[in-house]
Amino acid sequence: MSDASNDNPFLVTRGLPPYDKMEASQVAEAMDRVIAMAEKKIDDIEQNLTPTWEGVMQPLEALDLPFSYAWSPVGHLLGVKNSDDLRTAHEAIQPRMVELSLRINQSRPIYDCLKAMQAEPDWDRLDEAQRRAIEGKVLQAEHAGVGLEGEQKERFLEISRELSRISTKFSNNVLDARKQFELIIEDVGNAEGWPTTLKQVAAQSYNEARTSDDSKVAEDAGEASPDSGPWRITLDYPSFIPFMQHHRVRADRELMYRAQMTLASSGEFNNQELIRETLKLRKEKAGLLGYDSFADLSLSSKMASGVSAVSDMFDSLSAPSKPHADSDLKALAELASESGQTESLLHWDTGFWAERLREKLFDYTDEELRPYFPLSRVLDGLFSLAERLFDVKITRADGEAPVWHDEVQYFTVADASTDEQMASFYLDPYSRPSEKRGGAWMAGCLDRRIVDGEVRLPVVHLICNGTPPVGDTPSLMGFREVETLFHEFGHGLQGMLTAVDYAEVSGLGGVEWDAVELASQFMENWCYHKETLLGMTQHVESGEPLPDDLYEKIVASRNFRAGSLLLRQLEFGKTDMLLHSSFDPNGSETVFDVHRQVSSEMSVLQPLEEDRFLCGFSHIFAGGYAAGYYSYKWSEVLSADAFGAFEEVGLTDEAKVSALGRKFRDTILALGGGRHPMELFKDFRGREPDTKALLRQTGLG
Ligand code: ZN
Repeated sequence: MSDASNDNPFLVTRGLPPYDKMEASQVAEAMDRVIAMAEKKIDDIEQNLTPTWEGVMQPLEALDLPFSYAWSPVGHLLGVKNSDDLRTAHEAIQPRMVELSLRINQSRPIYDCLKAMQAEPDWDRLDEAQRRAIEGKVLQAEHAGVGLEGEQKERFLEISRELSRISTKFSNNVLDARKQFELIIEDVGNAEGWPTTLKQVAAQSYNEARTSDDSKVAEDAGEASPDSGPWRITLDYPSFIPFMQHHRVRADRELMYRAQMTLASSGEFNNQELIRETLKLRKEKAGLLGYDSFADLSLSSKMASGVSAVSDMFDSLSAPSKPHADSDLKALAELASESGQTESLLHWDTGFWAERLREKLFDYTDEELRPYFPLSRVLDGLFSLAERLFDVKITRADGEAPVWHDEVQYFTVADASTDEQMASFYLDPYSRPSEKRGGAWMAGCLDRRIVDGEVRLPVVHLICNGTPPVGDTPSLMGFREVETLFHEFGHGLQGMLTAVDYAEVSGLGGVEWDAVELASQFMENWCYHKETLLGMTQHVESGEPLPDDLYEKIVASRNFRAGSLLLRQLEFGKTDMLLHSSFDPNGSETVFDVHRQVSSEMSVLQPLEEDRFLCGFSHIFAGGYAAGYYSYKWSEVLSADAFGAFEEVGLTDEAKVSALGRKFRDTILALGGGRHPMELFKDFRGREPDTKALLRQTGLG
């Protein structure tokens, strides 16, 4: 092997990744080396295991280190600097990485050694974070079937393969069934009231359809234009949702709604049998691993203690929401009838009239808000909030880190009391459609861990897709974008302010899935706090802060139809939980019966007789949310309740707010995966989480 390691930037294992030097052409060589080295080391580790931290966990951490410099940057660059070459390089390596991680995570000798450690008298001498790291690894291995033997093992692997096949088939059916449906709108009058983005999306879809086999649009049809059509509406959400909100022809809305609710439920792309089969196999899999139900299996690695804890949350949120949802519906029905609709209000009317009501109540647009939110001002506001709350100092450090694009900014974070550096982060703020994925995300760059006896500080990536500056106009943010930045920064704080030194459980590592949104949503809450919000606004021309009346409208619109929206989420969550716990997939009851029962309790508008919404519920049948859909609300309860602590001491009492902020940093942000989230929450709040804060903050309690 030639000694190219000196100049291959994917092969460094110290300092920050040299992003400015990384090229797709270097990936294969670097990964070949790193994988070959790891394969050899794994054999060594397995043959020299001793049931101590130094004998298993440390070598495993060391094994992982080169990957955080070689493989993690590949994933990162795919998101922010995508190219055909990089994709090809990634695809070529991906299967080997999957194989390698299976090899490590499902190693029987390593598993046995970790189990032995738990039985050693020395177990209690490990600190809590170390024990959590080991317990997490053991559970992960057990859930992958490591503890099974013989026929049981065989059956387990068979089920796993089958479940993975079915889940792919399920999601392909949803995609294919969606493709089969289109609604062409030719009459310009019927597009009256549509937002510009819908017209653009629908005209573009029409033009693309001319060369697609999935469409009836003829190849020689004339070109569509956003202003005059024709427009093609599909069941994809960016098309479907605004259409249901703004299209005036009721019969068209009904057609769309019925198509969406019966998606993938008949004909060639029918998911009904796949759902039953999935539930049967999941139940059997859970049984093989020693759990009564798939829900029990899912919850064994989450913060919620069990199905009943989740049901309690559903109950305490649904009862207070119901009367609000009833009056929400009444308000829509009144508006519809005042506006001349003679038919009674049905499913395909609610989205439409809700938007009319929203326009009536809160007559502002996101575009109107933008000039008040120049990015630099928002960052100043965000950083000063973080500094006030968490006793840190954030410093711009552009030029101190190699970056993948000259728009990328770099910051360091220090402890304000000791001046010692704690972490750093990259902010990649603007959209670059040709190479950057849409949306916003936070991801770890380097985790906090011990390397050669010294603490390596954590580094995170914050990626947004804001409007770039144009000429003299700085980047102006929409309010949603501001909220998103706060959200991702909250994740970032947990990654950066961690005080845990073991990679497995430092930062967001090892944090239970249903608790992972605590810090992020907690930060979002501050966007509705008047002083915080107004403090980060400065009109790009007039220099004025956001006027009070606009602030009031933002706050009021946050809680618009909160009861209805909450109930809808609970309906999904409860259906998911019942299907994976008490429901018998071998019995005579159907999954649709279960959904209907839940709806009759939770919905103010009963589902259609032919409702087959579950056939398109990819979150739970083709995604990672099985017996986990409740997590969205669970996290929201935690973050609202954590924010409630600040409300209780009075958000303007500086001394009390910073003392509480410091407590939040020392518990939730510092210990992350190193302590059970329920214990951490209790450390911070002095009690278990309560749903009252969420209800109060959304105007429901
Ligand atoms: Zn998040």
